[in-house]
Amino acid sequence: MSDAVTRDWFDQYMAPNYNPGAVIPVRGKGSRVWDQDGHEYIDMATGIAVSALGHCHPALLDALTTQGSHLWHLSNVMTNEPALRLARKLVEATFADKVFFCSSGGEANEAALKLARKYASEHFGADKREIIAFKQAFHGRTLFTVTVGGQPKYTEGFEPLPGGVTHVAYNDLDALQAAISDKTCAVIMEPMQGEGGIIPGTAEFVQGVRAACDANNALLIFDEVQTGVGRSGTLYAYEQFGVSPDILTSAKGLGGGFPVGAMLATDTVMASLKVGTHGSTYGGNPLACAVAEAVIDHVNTPEILGNVKARHDQLVAGLDAINAKHGIFEQVRGMGLLMGAALVPDWHGRAREFLTAGVEHGVMVLVAGPNVVRFAPALNMPEADMAEALARFTKAVDQVVAG
Ligand SMILES: *Cc1c(COP(=O)(O)O)cnc(C)c1O
Repeated sequence: MSDAVTRDWFDQYMAPNYNPGAVIPVRGKGSRVWDQDGHEYIDMATGIAVSALGHCHPALLDALTTQGSHLWHLSNVMTNEPALRLARKLVEATFADKVFFCSSGGEANEAALKLARKYASEHFGADKREIIAFKQAFHGRTLFTVTVGGQPKYTEGFEPLPGGVTHVAYNDLDALQAAISDKTCAVIMEPMQGEGGIIPGTAEFVQGVRAACDANNALLIFDEVQTGVGRSGTLYAYEQFGVSPDILTSAKGLGGGFPVGAMLATDTVMASLKVGTHGSTYGGNPLACAVAEAVIDHVNTPEILGNVKARHDQLVAGLDAINAKHGIFEQVRGMGLLMGAALVPDWHGRAREFLTAGVEHGVMVLVAGPNVVRFAPALNMPEADMAEALARFTKAVDQVVAG
């Protein structure tokens, strides 16, 4: 058998829980990616909002290789300098007083939900167990996080599920107020729903959820796995809503492509994680934390956050121009560089066709459900790359519309 790696190997050797496209990228630089045949793509996907500073950013590469020649791993029996530095930076830049590290968004949310239950049991006793979450929410793929997520397709067949979880409609404050009670230990929400279709929370809703949590002694958990680390135009999206959570989860962009997750919380809440109550072998891994520290250093600057705003405006203008020609978008929405173009009803179910046509025309985009084309380019994308990406995507749309 030939040693040339091909897409067929996926079907032959890998679990069939994904359906990857035909091309296999082998190299990336900034916002450009090249496949096995040397074809170039402009990356408007960054994985799924992961490679925050594009591919192979020199500062991240330097952090990775420098740390890689010093120390890769320790157990949590000892601490390490990169984890301590990253924790301090996250605390200084946010509402939080303490940080717990893990390796993914799902694990960060699992930790947040467990912490909320633990905190409630310590402070309010055994009756305060209930978690309120939102329909169409996405919080990860562990059994607890798929149960809390609001997409039944991810729990079907995995029953019995953990109990005490209620779902209400997103952006519906009346529904939340009707569901919350003194039995609620936490409300978990994305400040803007990502997988659910790029649906920003309204300020009134997010502030109302905070008030309802306060009135019922319930913790508020913001899942910023997708919206965090500059993606929304501020370091974390909550800054734009005028309220802080008690617990916040971060992953995806945090490592810029290196697996790392974090759960941030106030002192009072985090105090419920005692020695031995929770843990993670890789959490606080020196390599991961060294890279994440470089990500935070670069993202949390006026240059990058200013570029997010400028590229946001450029992207919206480009999508509006496409829409002026074809009238296929009902709404262009989102925050910063996490944007969705929601298709008009006639086009419902066809978002993936734009992704596929994009690849044919040298631009990688995403979908968020069957009706929304999603864009999550690098936060440092140059103006010229965005212009070229929009030109290529315009051709892709022309082709799909022409049939
Ligand atoms: C991607 C995502 C997760 C899950 O993160 P993993 O790293 O895949 O476990 C959780 N919450 C949100 C909002 C996400 O977008």
